[in-house]
Amino acid sequence: MFDELLERLGLRDRHPGVCSGPWSDPPGGEEIVSINPSTGEPIATVVGGSIADYDAVADRAVAAFKRWRTLPAPRRGEAVRRIGQALREHKDDLGMLVTLEVGKIRSEGLGEVQEMIDMADFAVGLSRQLYGLTIASERPGHRMFEQWHPIGPVGIISAFNFPVAVWSWNAMVAAVCGDSMVWKPSPLAPLTSVAVQRLVNRAVEGMGIDGVFGLCVGGADLGRRMAEDDRLPLISATGSVPMGRAIAPVVAARLGRSLLELGGNNGIIVSPKANLDLALRAVVFAAVGTAGQRCTTLRRLIIHESIADGFLDRLASAYRSLRVGDPWEDDVLVGPLISEQAVASMLDAIEQAKAQGGEVVCGGNRLDRPGYFVEPTLIRANPGMPIVRKETFAPILFAMTYSDLDEAIALHNDVAEGLSSAIVTDDLREAERFLSPEGSDCGIANVNIGTSGAEIGGAFGGEKATGGGREAGSDAWKAYMRRQTCTVNFGGTLPLAQGVRFDL
Ligand code: NAD
Repeated sequence: MFDELLERLGLRDRHPGVCSGPWSDPPGGEEIVSINPSTGEPIATVVGGSIADYDAVADRAVAAFKRWRTLPAPRRGEAVRRIGQALREHKDDLGMLVTLEVGKIRSEGLGEVQEMIDMADFAVGLSRQLYGLTIASERPGHRMFEQWHPIGPVGIISAFNFPVAVWSWNAMVAAVCGDSMVWKPSPLAPLTSVAVQRLVNRAVEGMGIDGVFGLCVGGADLGRRMAEDDRLPLISATGSVPMGRAIAPVVAARLGRSLLELGGNNGIIVSPKANLDLALRAVVFAAVGTAGQRCTTLRRLIIHESIADGFLDRLASAYRSLRVGDPWEDDVLVGPLISEQAVASMLDAIEQAKAQGGEVVCGGNRLDRPGYFVEPTLIRANPGMPIVRKETFAPILFAMTYSDLDEAIALHNDVAEGLSSAIVTDDLREAERFLSPEGSDCGIANVNIGTSGAEIGGAFGGEKATGGGREAGSDAWKAYMRRQTCTVNFGGTLPLAQGVRFDL
């Protein structure tokens, strides 16, 4: 089944991972083996880029930018429209490749590609809406306005868990904004990036835009090179908080811009005034979906003490009924973790939780089968436990109780990250308080839905240690452009602002 899939996507056993129009074959970097996390077996090898390969891709991105920025934005939108169409045509295969390479269940693999298509559609519309403002000038005979110009080649560093959607959040918007780009995907998901690049190349063939969409597969060393590279005025990096902490000062030291989409330690408050059936479904999907490997995965359940016991019993039964297994099978809801290291880190976090006074309500073990499968795990915890304040990228949910809403909100906000948050309540006052300036301190705040599964129409991202970046919808496009304030004097005199006189 998978051999045919790779064949259809044009992927070879040993594929080059460097491209900026033509593929560099062979590139000079390390060989990265793509592993199927459901079996632990290799799928194929991607040959990554050396620093010299990367430099060549970046040079081509600079050259391509000079042409691309002059093309009218709606014509740039045409390239993105074609890419969206190619993704539609190959949605099944690309979705299955996501399932194969990172272990997402089938519908989430397809959902990831759908998200790319949605981003392409959004960006095509955006290509006719890159609006500036006209501002009233205080000087007679003057017109003041602002306009947005392409910023330059953008460096995109992506994480393994949304191996292709994160690229599209950046690439589709950056492209219509007039930026070329260099993409360094996660070395844990090299094949999906190669497959996307092949689709893009075919989609834009004949448009004469080689070098606009560049790819250089590699590890953290390439990421570091991008961070220090003056040719890339914007680095958009998605990954862990430690990665952001490593990159941000390097980009800042050259006074570049960074757009950081980092980790989360997301919480949900379940009120005694909640619809508990709805709360149960919201909690289960958010906590165990994608095997707990979303940046927006629910990691902390903050539940009112009066309903905690009953709710946790129901939650534990729901957990026990979840089928964990091969992600391409229809009734499986939980696939594998990404790697042996991810399993080890989950088991270690569970041991730490126990040592710190946590009680494992259900789960807690690795599955006895090949691949990186674990049981989704529910742990009764108290907020003082250090492990609760750490993002472990696995399906562990810590449950804690509260007695009044102020306490719940304080508990909720008492972590380093500020990505996604939710409250389940039918009480309007509680909901509005959670959304008020005294409420959730996160970039995403939901009422009566879980923390994960955002739509692309909104700006996506978080505060505090999550890095402050915003991607995808709303006006997130502004990060990919430079703003220019312009004043035109159409009068015959030269009045100065603030009444300053400077008579010669
Ligand atoms: P990671 O930090 O290990 O790697 C992410 C990317 O950064 C990879 O391409 C990696 O090669 C690169 N990288 C790592 N260290 C680097 C360094 N020092 N310099 C330059 N590049 C470096 O993350 P991961 O394990 O792939 O993904 C999981 C993490 O990503 C979680 O923390 C998750 O919450 C976060 N994430 C955040 C978002 C978001 O939008 N906020 C989305 C997806 C994932």
